[in-house]
Amino acid sequence: MVKIERSKPAPKSLQIAKKKGKGSYRREDVIDRLREDFHDKCYLCETKGLQDPEVEHRLPHQNGKNLKRKYDWNNLFWSCGHCNNVKNKYYYSKNIIDCCKVDPEELLVFVAADESIQIEPVNKKKRSAKVTADLLNDVYNLTNTGIRLAACDNRVKGVFIQMNLLFNAINNYIDDSSNKDYEDTLKALLSRESEYAAFKRSYIRENKDLYPDVYGLIDEE
Ligand SMILES: [Zn+2]
Repeated sequence: MVKIERSKPAPKSLQIAKKKGKGSYRREDVIDRLREDFHDKCYLCETKGLQDPEVEHRLPHQNGKNLKRKYDWNNLFWSCGHCNNVKNKYYYSKNIIDCCKVDPEELLVFVAADESIQIEPVNKKKRSAKVTADLLNDVYNLTNTGIRLAACDNRVKGVFIQMNLLFNAINNYIDDSSNKDYEDTLKALLSRESEYAAFKRSYIRENKDLYPDVYGLIDEE
């Protein structure tokens, strides 16, 4: 999960549906804007290029009973079916970090090591950090059904592919930091737009004493 800059104003079709109090919240203009704003990545698991993307309501609209939430542009998020499904329980119906307003990387540490994935809140007493960490841990590690096991497995594999690309890129860059291609490759792997970016950026942040120059390539804003 990384910070997202949500474009403004709300897509036209959504403004119209909101005014009428009926209609679809996932017309083409909404889909196009979400895909673009979220860099074509699920906002929860950060899987890129989704085959079956879904428009997720961070705050549930209770089967359309809550029209304000249903048509609120700020409540719509680009998600994969797996994450939408895992999030669908009461405990996750509130307190999930709004990554368009708050930077999740300031509240969470993303660890991918020893073939396992763990998301930790920086401050356990902060409710939104705790609940979001629980959700993300479920997204990568929940294995209570066959389908979920396969979905988690794919995501964990994807994270480690990106981590290995990062380690290779770091080695190349350390060998020859004057090589602009090496620097660009590393920058791209560490950009918020890249797949599973939170894990790669968190690793560098946690090891900034080891890699001060690489740390300098992260765009922290
Ligand atoms: Zn996802």
